[in-house]
Amino acid sequence: MAGTITFTIIKPGAVKNEHIGPILDKISDAGFHIAAMKMVQLSRSEARSFYCIHKDKPFFEDLVEFMVSGPIVAAILQKENAVDDFRKLIGNTDPTKAEPGTIRHMFAKSVQANAVHGSDSDENAQKESEYFFAGYEKFFEVKKTSCSEK
Ligand code: UDP
Repeated sequence: MAGTITFTIIKPGAVKNEHIGPILDKISDAGFHIAAMKMVQLSRSEARSFYCIHKDKPFFEDLVEFMVSGPIVAAILQKENAVDDFRKLIGNTDPTKAEPGTIRHMFAKSVQANAVHGSDSDENAQKESEYFFAGYEKFFEVKKTSCSEK
């Protein structure tokens, strides 16, 4: 069964260009509950470790520099089928290939500065969420059953 959380980052370019509000509107309109959120500045070692899967790619060093170029907004998003639905909402990695209406089509400037990150699997959604947030920073909506509703 697909998981109910995904992890996102609003990347430095989108933060600098005042796109936090419009991006959060798109996320809310798509039915995601924001279960945790904060603005932080990544260190180089944190950015390198977050994207370590790409460490041998030619774009890696530039990507790390971009990710530390300003604050980011990290958030945990909750919804049924969260990972896949959020990947659909953000669109293709390359904004020129992203569908109209997707977050990357609307707010990305380039493949690197593509506005947002979205986890690519339930396992990574868990790992990324655990890395950024402590238990007391998470506020998940609990689905009530008909028996527990008053
Ligand atoms: N990226 C880049 N150049 C590339 C491909 C990717 O700078 O040629 C960056 C881009 O910001 C992307 C991130 O590396 O979001 C991670 O790449 P991935 O292929 O995992 O794409 P995503 O899962 O973010 O769509």
